[in-house]
Amino acid sequence: MNTTHCIFCNIITKSIPSYIVYEDDMCIGFLDIAPITKGHTLLVPKVHCSNILDFDLHYSESVMHGLQIVSNAITKALSVEGIQILQNNGSGAGQMVFHIHWHIIPRYADDGLNHWQGKATPHKAELQGIADSIISNL
Ligand code: AMP
Ligand code: ZN
Repeated sequence: MNTTHCIFCNIITKSIPSYIVYEDDMCIGFLDIAPITKGHTLLVPKVHCSNILDFDLHYSESVMHGLQIVSNAITKALSVEGIQILQNNGSGAGQMVFHIHWHIIPRYADDGLNHWQGKATPHKAELQGIADSIISNL
């Protein structure tokens, strides 16, 4: 992909404005323009990868470090009840910007977001079949 057309690459190069809260050599954190909750922040590696399927693992430690630093700062800055880390991969999973990013979502007692409900536990044979299928594709 031509990264000049990537909105997050443009934020990284400061070609377009954003509310940056954290930056180091390998990643950047900025406020989400359409926050789910107050303080919703995106943590973005400074390398153009689409999502987890092609993520450059050299950035892994830096991303985890950034997620921890920003999560701690949000916890101190805002009266949060918890922090949720979310990461969408592929349009089927709700990904809209195809430069990998992690959502840091502060959670509040009255934020109205609900945890997803698990379904009934599948039969053992079905679970084993799914596990075998994944393992054979590692
Ligand atoms: P996703 O659905 O995981 O791809 O999430 C993309 C996120 O990027 C959404 O929450 C958008 O609100 C956010 N977003 C899109 N454009 C911008 C922008 N220019 N600055 C900050 N956040 C943005
Ligand atoms: Zn990009």
